[in-house]
Amino acid sequence: MIEKKLQRNVILAPFTTFKIGGPAAYFIEAHNEDDLLQALQWVKSTNIPYFILGGGSNILIADKGFDGLVVKMRMNTYTVLKTNIIADAGVFLSTLVSVSLKNSLTGLEWAAGVPGTIGGAVRGNAGAHGHSISELVTTVRVIRKESVVELENNNCKFSYRHSIFKKKNNNDSIVRVVLKLKKGNNLEIEKGITKHITYRNKTQPFQSSCGCIFKNINFSAIDKESLRKFPEMNEFKDYGQIPSGWLIDSCSLKRTKKGKVAISDIHANFIENSGSATAHDVRELIARAKSAVKQKFGIDLEEEIIYVGFF
Ligand SMILES: Cc1cc2nc3c(=O)[nH]c(=O)nc-3n(C[C@H](O)[C@H](O)[C@H](O)COP(=O)(O)OP(=O)(O)OC[C@H]3O[C@@H](n4cnc5c(N)ncnc54)[C@H](O)[C@@H]3O)c2cc1C
Repeated sequence: MIEKKLQRNVILAPFTTFKIGGPAAYFIEAHNEDDLLQALQWVKSTNIPYFILGGGSNILIADKGFDGLVVKMRMNTYTVLKTNIIADAGVFLSTLVSVSLKNSLTGLEWAAGVPGTIGGAVRGNAGAHGHSISELVTTVRVIRKESVVELENNNCKFSYRHSIFKKKNNNDSIVRVVLKLKKGNNLEIEKGITKHITYRNKTQPFQSSCGCIFKNINFSAIDKESLRKFPEMNEFKDYGQIPSGWLIDSCSLKRTKKGKVAISDIHANFIENSGSATAHDVRELIARAKSAVKQKFGIDLEEEIIYVGFF
């Protein structure tokens, strides 16, 4: 009986790294595929919108909350088979980084310090330090229209912070992911993890946030005229991307405040919540950053974060 598992008016802020967001009209925890299937059947029969919540580290939830069902992914078992890690969608990336070290498997060191679940990471093709999760994914098991489907890597259509799961009208729920790593040396793996965490601690703020607000800009999309006007952008040519944080910083927006939120002083692509911030204030800062970058550079910033409950 799904009705017994459904909770009403659950405040979502504590389920997010930003610590922002109002209530979900309905809330359920999916501990296995059956729970998820029941939830999906229920939303279909009631015609209520739904949203899958992983670690809540890449989303901004509206102050009024979400007028539908939030399915919190609690599937969190994993197995290691030779160089493969088979992980349920709700397993945290941090757990998988530890598992890879414990099993002398290399390839996931870059993910040290990236919050969130493997399900969320696959959907958004999370990445850092020149790597992304798509390099390691072999298969993804999803629930699609109440049936289970196994997708190979090339069917997932991965690109920069994108995948088939992020496309409009895609309603796949990721339930399991198989990652293929390589045998490695424990000391080297540990060194890699420490290096990435140290770098993060130096370059990212500690206060509550949802990571980078905007995607970086593909260098090849910048026209010659803009490069002539702003020759300093050429320093990113080899990197292949103009960091959105650099663009925002160039508009002198670091430390810009609205209520309890501010554009980070440490990394301008982060917005920090210093207390009881509202999503409304975050949206205002996002709008300010977009407008300033458009005015100065003629570049349209595109959100990496997902908005929940705004429309
Ligand atoms: C401090 C900080 C640093 C960060 N650094 C990085 C970084 O270096 N690189 C990077 O790429 N990201 C980074 N992020 C962003 C974020 O951690 C990643 O994007 C992460 O992969 C999101 O996973 P999640 O489980 O938290 O997803 P959520 O935020 O819960 O959800 C994000 C989207 O994925 C969907 N989703 C989640 N699980 C599933 C599922 N099982 N099936 C279908 N859809 C699902 C949700 O519906 C939502 O649309 C950072 C965030 C923070 C707070």
